[in-house]
Amino acid sequence: MTLDFTAIEAKWRKAWYDAKINESEPKPGKKKFFLIFAYPGVTGYMTVGHMRGYSVSDAIVRFKKMTGHEVLFPVGTHATGNGAIAFARRVERENPITLEMLRANGASEDMIKKLADPLEVVKFFNRIFVDDYWKRFGFMSDWRRFTCTIWPDYSKFIEWQMRKLKAEGLLIQRPYYAAACIEHGPVAIDASETDISKGGNAETLEYTLLKFDFEDGRKLVAATLRPETVFGLTNFWLNPEVEYVDVQVDRETWVMSRPAAEKLRFQKDTVEVRGSADGASLMGKRCKAPYTGKMIPIFPSVLCDPNVGSGLVMSVPSDAPVDWIGLVELKKDTAARKKYGITDEMISDSAPTSIIDTPGYGPLPAVEVTKRMGIESLSDSKLDEATKEVYKTGFHRGVMNASCGEFSGQPVEKAKDAMKEEMLASGQADLFYDLSEEVLCRCGNRVFIKKIPDQWFIDYANPDLTERSKAHALTMKILPREYHENIQGVLEWYRERACVRMGNWLGTKFPFDQRWTVEAIADSTLYPAYYVLSKYVNDGTIGPAGMTEEFFDYVFLGKGESQHVSKTTGFPVEVLDRIRKDFEYWYPLDVNLGGKEHMTVHFPVFLMNHVAVLRQQHWPRGIIVNWYITSTGGKISKSKGGAQSIPEAAARFGVDAMRLFYAHIASLYVDVDWEDEKVESYRERLQRLWNLVQDLRASGQGGPKDIDAWMEARLEGRLAKAYEHMNDFDTRSYANEVYFEIPQDIRWYLRRGGAHDATIAKMLDTWIPLMAPITPHVAEEMWADLGRKPFVSTQQIREPRLSEATALEEARERLVESLLEDISEILKVTEIKAKKIVIMVAPKWKHDMRRDALAEGKQKVDVSGLIKSAMNRAPAEVKREIPSYAKELAAEISKASEGDLKAMSYDYDELEVVSKAAGFLVSEFGCGVEVYSAEDPRRTDPKGKARFARPGRPAVYLE
Ligand SMILES: [Zn+2]
Repeated sequence: MTLDFTAIEAKWRKAWYDAKINESEPKPGKKKFFLIFAYPGVTGYMTVGHMRGYSVSDAIVRFKKMTGHEVLFPVGTHATGNGAIAFARRVERENPITLEMLRANGASEDMIKKLADPLEVVKFFNRIFVDDYWKRFGFMSDWRRFTCTIWPDYSKFIEWQMRKLKAEGLLIQRPYYAAACIEHGPVAIDASETDISKGGNAETLEYTLLKFDFEDGRKLVAATLRPETVFGLTNFWLNPEVEYVDVQVDRETWVMSRPAAEKLRFQKDTVEVRGSADGASLMGKRCKAPYTGKMIPIFPSVLCDPNVGSGLVMSVPSDAPVDWIGLVELKKDTAARKKYGITDEMISDSAPTSIIDTPGYGPLPAVEVTKRMGIESLSDSKLDEATKEVYKTGFHRGVMNASCGEFSGQPVEKAKDAMKEEMLASGQADLFYDLSEEVLCRCGNRVFIKKIPDQWFIDYANPDLTERSKAHALTMKILPREYHENIQGVLEWYRERACVRMGNWLGTKFPFDQRWTVEAIADSTLYPAYYVLSKYVNDGTIGPAGMTEEFFDYVFLGKGESQHVSKTTGFPVEVLDRIRKDFEYWYPLDVNLGGKEHMTVHFPVFLMNHVAVLRQQHWPRGIIVNWYITSTGGKISKSKGGAQSIPEAAARFGVDAMRLFYAHIASLYVDVDWEDEKVESYRERLQRLWNLVQDLRASGQGGPKDIDAWMEARLEGRLAKAYEHMNDFDTRSYANEVYFEIPQDIRWYLRRGGAHDATIAKMLDTWIPLMAPITPHVAEEMWADLGRKPFVSTQQIREPRLSEATALEEARERLVESLLEDISEILKVTEIKAKKIVIMVAPKWKHDMRRDALAEGKQKVDVSGLIKSAMNRAPAEVKREIPSYAKELAAEISKASEGDLKAMSYDYDELEVVSKAAGFLVSEFGCGVEVYSAEDPRRTDPKGKARFARPGRPAVYLE
């Protein structure tokens, strides 16, 4: 029978949700397990990459549910920020890509019209996330608890969180240079790219803006990261093809590029553009350097980028390879020099002068390094490397030399700050902030640095909060293990983080100043707690109006009396007490699972807010980080709209095949490429397993045999491994046991003639439930096909019954397996058509010796003692062999792993085991099989193979 995955999925999904087996209520006395995955931002459609973390979450939750836990697995969405606003704006402007994407995903024209409203966008995607993604995948989520961060009740919760942080002294206010969109105000720049669509790794650079006196009292301003190099200035670079503007800043007029003036507008109170000139008109003129007062000429350079810094560059050819090569090129470029009036004298006056003693270099590092690397042109790609090399050594290890006045002898790093401060104080310099690379807001606008005079921060740098968070993190189960270590450093270095923004944002108004909106990272830290009570809001038991500070204090902190809280909130005492009890039952959170972009952003603040606000017994217990599913080139974990859609993939491959792909394709802690063929192969595997179950059931006609004891023992071993892997949340190893190892065991059982109905029933009763966490729909279908009711999803996966006896069973069968492999190998290599196979198991004296050697319980065997005792009891004719076998044993044991030693310790009657398997070997090889002890005089052994027999490895002679 060919499985119709789509039909099976629809049937079971409906049956589960109709029976409400996904809903969770506290069961006092029963163990609980509470997992969330980091809720997704509402910025558009998701792709198949997103389902990795979610599917693994569901597998973990289902396993916990099937092993004695009441589980809570709620979901929600994060609509805070400008994702939905930007989306609505694209619809409103009829952006063709957006409209096409909506149509391709089946949105009706009526619906598309509605989506010009951001709130409709949120509603639209909330439904898609829940129905088309999470329910479609059969998740055991309690849908009654769904929440969204822009709902009024959620906002009440965030207001409360902000009040608690303020009460703890963790909300602070100070001036701030923030990355901001013109339209939306400040945006967060970090790897999670919550607010932005490009530039997550950009840094804010602080430039020193040096003022050079120029004509008419104007000042040319050059932005530099190295103000101390003023001593080595030889000339000024301007781009002749760029427009420069006069900008009125307080009482001064600055000359800079137009884009720079635009940026400056966000950082200074009064910035007014007065006039402009093209760069060409300024060439050859002179200006006066700050601090040194040196007059320097203005030279042309097309490398001056109007978008970087101020668009004007000061030239320090002694230490900047670009400046040196620029001068070299200009010297040769007679046409340009003629055009701009650059005389020979100007060029020779601009010879580099030494200012920094740099270890490993002579007086002019830039000249030296370009010569060594053979750089002669500005278009040479090695110029970057040369710059980095000189910059790094000069800045970190250089010392200002005798030509640097009062700074002579100072390390460069120190002189830099001192010079900056001095020039700032004397009005010869100012500060200017810019981003290290282009950053785009989700709305498409470019992001700039803007001064916010009274920005609010959450003080994550608070030493007490940091210490308590670090100490708690050590007690948590954090995976992968490296992150358990690394998060210590992340917490240590976490700084104050801006927590509110002005501008056009969705989210909660800041309770202390309604002009601000709480930003996206700050309102998504404590939310697992909110799922405990969202259910009561969603069903109308309570409403936002009564969700006061007292209410949350009572529910989450146990403060106050329910009678009193009932009076002020209007909620009945029973309801309050029930919610409080729910919280006490479900909290703390057991696992927060999220993508690797959260490692430096969300996870640390998730932890720190719990520590700051909740009581210690409610701090989280675990974090799991998942890596991405990528497509060729980029990550598709971020919705860009175009990649493989989830419903399409589900229809094509089947949900269970996708779930198995996510669980098994690789460790959760590496990126994996999405490959259609791989997913297809998992689909085929599921069909084969279905067929195997049918074969197994069809063969259950006979009575018990020796192999049944092995099969049962084997199953206990697999079960134990399954538990072990899932306790480590290692779905890959778990899936390997369930979908690969167990089927192999079953095939071996059938091959060995296993056919006992009782054993087969036991196998299916164990194996099918083990499949339910990862491939629940197919498992459910198998279960129903067996006539079992009601659901495999609500069955308990029994605990393994491991014993020495089961281990011994496995060891005995391993002997037969390896014998089969060995004989097959010999037949293959020798290409013999055997008439008879003679198997000779190791003689008793070898078993005795090995037992003695192992009995010492250590890996260093006393060889001479071993020989002595063996000599005393072994038959006379083998005495010659004893010393060499003793040495062999000593070597083997010294190299053995703990597992090997354990396997060697199972001592059983090999003659009995192999004799019983003789019939099986006859049928496998189609010839006679004789089994002897290697010391049996009746054996057929013309080539003397018997002496090669070892415990666990019989000798074989083929006739
Ligand atoms: Zn914007």
